[in-house]
Amino acid sequence: MTTTLITNIGEIATNDPALGDGSPLGVLRDAALVIEDGRVAWVGPSASAPAADEHFDAGGRAVIPAFVDSHTHLVFAGERSAEFAARMAGEPYTGGGIATTVAATRAATDDELRAHTRALAGELLASGTTTFEIKSGYGLDVATEARILRIAREFTDETTFLGAHVVPAEYAHDRAAYVDLVCGEMLTACAPLSRWIDVFCDEGAFTGEEARRILEAGIAAGLLPRLHGNQLAHGPGAALAVELGVASVDHSTFLTDADVEALAGSDTVATLLPAAEFSTRSPYPDARRLIDAGVSVAIATDCNPGSSYVTSMPLCIALAVREMRMTPAEALHAATAGGACALRRDDIGRLSPGAWADIALLDAPSYLHLAYRPGSQLVSRVWKRGIAVVG
Ligand SMILES: [Zn+2]
Repeated sequence: MTTTLITNIGEIATNDPALGDGSPLGVLRDAALVIEDGRVAWVGPSASAPAADEHFDAGGRAVIPAFVDSHTHLVFAGERSAEFAARMAGEPYTGGGIATTVAATRAATDDELRAHTRALAGELLASGTTTFEIKSGYGLDVATEARILRIAREFTDETTFLGAHVVPAEYAHDRAAYVDLVCGEMLTACAPLSRWIDVFCDEGAFTGEEARRILEAGIAAGLLPRLHGNQLAHGPGAALAVELGVASVDHSTFLTDADVEALAGSDTVATLLPAAEFSTRSPYPDARRLIDAGVSVAIATDCNPGSSYVTSMPLCIALAVREMRMTPAEALHAATAGGACALRRDDIGRLSPGAWADIALLDAPSYLHLAYRPGSQLVSRVWKRGIAVVG
């Protein structure tokens, strides 16, 4: 079995506090890493690196775990730049434009959807993301929801059934019938194609009672729950998320003190999506308040054509630091280990023995440059399961 030694790493963030400086990021300087059979076999000081079959010289640059993007809506057709321009001219974001994407997605062929998803997945990979989740939610009928998930599964194992994204226009006057469809025929068609079930529980989307019914139906069908909540207004999402033990409540902008306290005492991750607030010119969630209260936090892109047409985790890190009062260390941790936790994974998002060798090399001496040099392409090489896939 071939082993590869990455030498001359100026700085490595391992996300293993037992390695390196004892911080959650587990930073070591002048380090080396050994890859064996796609996994990290050894990490430590350069001086004590074991022998290996192949060598890669990192040239004194920084190495980080590849990003884990735990929230995307990657399979869709069309684009909504005109809606973005209108918003920047003063229109509020209401989520109503989702119908535009639903119409374009229903009309697209499988090959069109596949090619578009492939292009976006390529952008994710080039910016250092090796694991990403994909939600359905732009079909809103049985056939198209299942079609989206079938295509999503060609790109990731982390697929999420989001039939409850919004109530489609044809059910506007009979919401209950749409919830019945989601919990019935649509769930039956989509559950075999999904790991997760998600609901948009917010103003203009689904109520707490509707969300509870849908998540409980998904859990009964063997899916793991997650939730979009508290993005647009205070609401029941976060409390419901904690009550049902969902892996992650995503957005988490409008939280009461009781919500924050409940999250802090739970296993539910608060996934923050700063590119959505950036792209909709909306108030950012207060990451500082969440972290100081002891809530586990992740950062993800929310890549979608309406509220966050962003594939770059480095941009999200920069926004999290600049706009959400996270330290650069907290933001990197949230974009890697945090995302893994939001997907209930412990085999990614860290660079310590046993984890997959999903690694990003930065053209920079330190991970700090991710927030310090926003807009520059710093990710210069990416390994996925030990194979160089970028650079
Ligand atoms: Zn979303």
